[in-house]
Amino acid sequence: MSTRDLEVDVVVVGAGVAGLSTALGLARTRDVLVVSDGEGSTGWAQGGIAAASTPDDSPALHAADTRAAGDDWCDPRAVDRLVEEGPLRLAELVAAGARLDREPDGRLSRSLEGGHHRRRVVHASGDATGAEVARALSAATAEVPRLSARVVGLLQSASGAVAGLICRSSDGLVRVRARAVVLATGGLGHVYGATTNPAGVRGEGLALALLAGATLSDLELVQFHPTALHTGAAGGQLPLVTEALRGEGARLLDLSGAPLMAGRHRLGDLAPRDVVAREVHRAARRTGSGHVWLDARAVPDVVRRFPTVAASCATHGLDLAADLLPVTPAQHFLCGGVTTDGWGATDVPGLYAVGEVAATGVHGGNRLASNSLLEGLVYGARVAAGLVLELPPADSSDGSTPLLVDSPSVAETVRGVMDAHVGIVRSGGGLAEAASVLRPLVGRDPVALVGAAVVAAAAARPESLGCHFRSDSPAAAGRTPRVRVRLDDSGEPSVLAPPASASAAAQASTSPSVSAA
Ligand SMILES: Cc1cc2nc3c(=O)[nH]c(=O)nc-3n(C[C@H](O)[C@H](O)[C@H](O)COP(=O)(O)OP(=O)(O)OC[C@H]3O[C@@H](n4cnc5c(N)ncnc54)[C@H](O)[C@@H]3O)c2cc1C
Repeated sequence: MSTRDLEVDVVVVGAGVAGLSTALGLARTRDVLVVSDGEGSTGWAQGGIAAASTPDDSPALHAADTRAAGDDWCDPRAVDRLVEEGPLRLAELVAAGARLDREPDGRLSRSLEGGHHRRRVVHASGDATGAEVARALSAATAEVPRLSARVVGLLQSASGAVAGLICRSSDGLVRVRARAVVLATGGLGHVYGATTNPAGVRGEGLALALLAGATLSDLELVQFHPTALHTGAAGGQLPLVTEALRGEGARLLDLSGAPLMAGRHRLGDLAPRDVVAREVHRAARRTGSGHVWLDARAVPDVVRRFPTVAASCATHGLDLAADLLPVTPAQHFLCGGVTTDGWGATDVPGLYAVGEVAATGVHGGNRLASNSLLEGLVYGARVAAGLVLELPPADSSDGSTPLLVDSPSVAETVRGVMDAHVGIVRSGGGLAEAASVLRPLVGRDPVALVGAAVVAAAAARPESLGCHFRSDSPAAAGRTPRVRVRLDDSGEPSVLAPPASASAAAQASTSPSVSAA
């Protein structure tokens, strides 16, 4: 197979909101290339983008909601950047051509979602926000060269600095030398059996970062969306039913028709996602049906306002305006990821991460609805700004990380294990079982590598935190310091000892109750 060589200042891996926001910020000053391989989650985003930009709202209120949903595990500085810079980046998105929904008087139309105390979620074409974000950013970056190829390894010098990447295109291997590699590869959906994410989202950026020696953090904090459509399929990709429907009055009901969230949380159906997902999981398990009902029949003009959900329902023989919808939780989002600073830098020189693949600390224990597109806009611009000011030193060495190799049968086993033992409810016994099955499978298959890293992180946090719920959580548990994972000398993901200062701080804090959210 032939190998082509390219050289640029910055290569961005991923063409979702995070990758394209980064490329947009770099386009005028740097020689940038975007490499992507199929569809990420951005184009599928439904509910919208959260941003505090009305007189009755403020970045401080948005930050408070973000931290409460995050179970007080967010990095407050990272959250402040998100909420303060968010409205500015949203305005730039509109200036770049994004058409958001508006009221008849021209004001932006804003909806309410779980965990928000203000109507601050802007959207496009009702529930097709991601498609409009992707369209607008693609148009705004039309001049930036793109390569359709799958990145399978990173160029790396003997000193450990990343100096480019290796990808597989339809024409063969391409080696791209670059002063900076920005991973914007999204989440890890298909490391699980049932997920709302598109098929190509399977944690490859996390695997590439691990193989380059980067530290990942908060991997145990995997968010499950409470309302994926229960299609009857054993797993795979499940259509999302946006939370914005509940913001407009849709209710969750148990199979007898009783309101599911009554008395469970003071925000009822609009409680943070982890709380609602656990209630749906519990009720669906109790009846053995695997689902509860979502009743959106009283939402005015529901089919026109939620065309994406209406179309998914119709595909499965359901009428959004007339039928109760069977819904079930499914893997949706990774709150942790590759550890980064406020400018996207990882602990490997030359390697950056942004968007869902990155752990900036903004999401804490559980992401607040509609904060992810916002994170891509805000942190994409920050990564670009850092690289406009300064590029890492050039490195011309020829080494590389081991290349990713797919093993479909291994990936299938991993997904079964993740669903069985690393889902909404976890226990020490289940995680030990998962670790024993996955350990011999860890090699260069990205799904196995990432699955094993999530299991290691989950086992290292014995107490419940946000969306990491342990059925065997000690009663008055203190908080384990932030869990950080890196590959050890044998190539297995292993948990790093916490810095001494983090241990002391964690000893001093105890877990606040979920009802504080
Ligand atoms: C159904 C659904 C609805 C959602 N609704 C909302 C919402 O309303 N609001 C909100 O804030 N968030 C929402 N989210 C979450 C949000 O969409 C994602 O977190 C966000 O879009 C992630 O953006 P990203 O740019 O980080 O990654 P993605 O958009 O996932 O893009 C990843 C990119 O990386 C590329 N890639 C991956 N691996 C490789 C590789 N090895 N080589 C080359 N390229 C690679 C892919 O081709 C893709 O271009 C939703 C998610 C889903 C699945």
